[in-house]
Amino acid sequence: MKKLLRKLIQAESTAEKGELAVAEIISQELGRTGMDAQIDNWGRDRANLVVHIKSAGQRCALLFACHLDVVPPGEAQWKYPAFEGLESNGKIYGRGSADMKGGIVAILAALRQIIEAGMKLKGDIILVAAAGEETDSCGAKRFISNYKDKLPTLAGVVIPEPTDFKIVTAHRGMLWLEVATKGKAAHGSTPELGVNAIISMKAVLDELENYKIVFEPHELLGGCSMSINTIAGGKAMNVVPDKCRIGIDIRTVPGQNHQDIVENFQEIFAKLKQKNPKFDAEVFIVREVEALQTDNGCGFVKEFCSAVGIGETKAVGFTTDGPHFAILGAPVVIFGPGKSDVCHKPDEYIEISDIEKAAEYYKKIILRFLA
Ligand SMILES: [Zn+2]
Repeated sequence: MKKLLRKLIQAESTAEKGELAVAEIISQELGRTGMDAQIDNWGRDRANLVVHIKSAGQRCALLFACHLDVVPPGEAQWKYPAFEGLESNGKIYGRGSADMKGGIVAILAALRQIIEAGMKLKGDIILVAAAGEETDSCGAKRFISNYKDKLPTLAGVVIPEPTDFKIVTAHRGMLWLEVATKGKAAHGSTPELGVNAIISMKAVLDELENYKIVFEPHELLGGCSMSINTIAGGKAMNVVPDKCRIGIDIRTVPGQNHQDIVENFQEIFAKLKQKNPKFDAEVFIVREVEALQTDNGCGFVKEFCSAVGIGETKAVGFTTDGPHFAILGAPVVIFGPGKSDVCHKPDEYIEISDIEKAAEYYKKIILRFLA
């Protein structure tokens, strides 16, 4: 397991480098146990990996949904190099060790042990390891559109993201908006001949300061939040800017409709245009993931809790590809090794014993639903 994890970390599957290399390593590993993986490759080096372990089909299938990509190492200094997978004190360090190559190694180990033991399963297992979870969920979306009609009926979807073995059934959604104001360039010495896009953006910012998104607070996830996190405008000190952009990170709770928020922005722009006919702005969705809310009372969640011997479910602040897989109509549970607070930070690590523990849990889950 350690050797495989090290190789997966060394494959450096950032969005920039792509997921193909890491998909090929996993495919080779699966091949050793006679499991056939399909690599769906697009662009230069983007890739999803899909394994379908067929059964007699007496029971509904289980889908394990992972992601192959990692976030870049960032600016801060690492004590352990980000892409070497060094071992120290029972931990393996490296970008993606926790998020989520440790989880991938654990589910692969569980599958291998089940296949090698010659167990006959009554339901299929599908493992997908998708591209781009950290950027635009391109891999999950592509898998859903290619496989939606080909999949057997699913009992549930398990996402081996790092939850430190908490059973997560809810998280907030994410809506990233870009607002762009348009003006008219002019020489800086004759501003009256232009329309200043930065001044237009000031009007937007003033409105947004008083704008409150309407939502029903969620008992576990709390409220919806909005933060304006980037701004860019203007090209030169002597040119009236014709463009200004801001980036806004909105986190939503279950029940909110993202389109309503976009419409609120358009209403704000219409109001500003009424006051000043030269005002011009547009809003774009840069990225969105719906909130996740799996029914804790459903049979799948109850059986899942009983199989792993953990009574309670949790809600978390981070988002996953879960809502994309929820489109398939089966309950989604996020459960895996590794601590979420080491993710996306320098010296990300995973405890080796946690990977072993996760493999045992995944075996228990597979046997409970498919034996
Ligand atoms: Zn992740």
